[in-house]
Amino acid sequence: MCPSLDLKTRIIFCQRQGPQLIDISSFFKHTLLPQNCLLCGDMAHDQALCHHCLDHLPWHDTLACPVCALPNPAGELCGSCLTHPPAFDATVALLDFEFPVNALLRRYKYAGFLPVAELMGRLLADKLIDRPRPDLVIPMPLHPTRLRERGFNQAVEIARVVCTQMGLSLALQASTRARPTPPQAGLVLTERKKNLRGAFTCQMDLSGQRVALMDDVMTTGTSLDELARCVKKAGAAQVECWVAARTLRD
Ligand SMILES: [Zn+2]
Ligand SMILES: [Zn+2]
Repeated sequence: MCPSLDLKTRIIFCQRQGPQLIDISSFFKHTLLPQNCLLCGDMAHDQALCHHCLDHLPWHDTLACPVCALPNPAGELCGSCLTHPPAFDATVALLDFEFPVNALLRRYKYAGFLPVAELMGRLLADKLIDRPRPDLVIPMPLHPTRLRERGFNQAVEIARVVCTQMGLSLALQASTRARPTPPQAGLVLTERKKNLRGAFTCQMDLSGQRVALMDDVMTTGTSLDELARCVKKAGAAQVECWVAARTLRD
């Protein structure tokens, strides 16, 4: 690819390549062979991203509220978490949901570009290395109808990599989505909350357990809040959210 193109142009060019289906051949190519950078297409050797793209990712490493991970200058508990505490106790976010992360995650979720799960899972495991370990990891469940349409659960595939890397238990059957919920995008916060009320059920006794909830993106945190509420009702003592990306503005 022409090296004179700027990064954004090259990424858009790369995204226009290939079918909009789950790309199994690409998955194996990126898993087993020396590969090109998932973002710009340049040689990345045995890595998913070249050094340039890795260095320029929007890492979520600014001071932020420890509960919801939204940035604030002192890294203190934010006003929203103080006045309306969510059911989860903490959030760890790997990246900001900005370009090119938003484009990469959309390609993963809606076009089945599975190498992104490996990339996000490995980077997240690196970030979590010094953090106290939970007893188990519960990925955000998809309703069976949505799972059939998409072919995979984007949170599960990232969680698989994180758990393998860190030697953690992945609890795939712990929680299910009790009813299909319309997409959250475009809804205001109160509508999101109403949309999700009672959406999850928890089948495990989680008494005294420390649980990490895994999702690809935290937007308002409403889904994770509802899932955390359900997990705590099942007895969990401590719940934190692990997300590949955090939306900074809704
Ligand atoms: Zn690159
Ligand atoms: Zn907060």
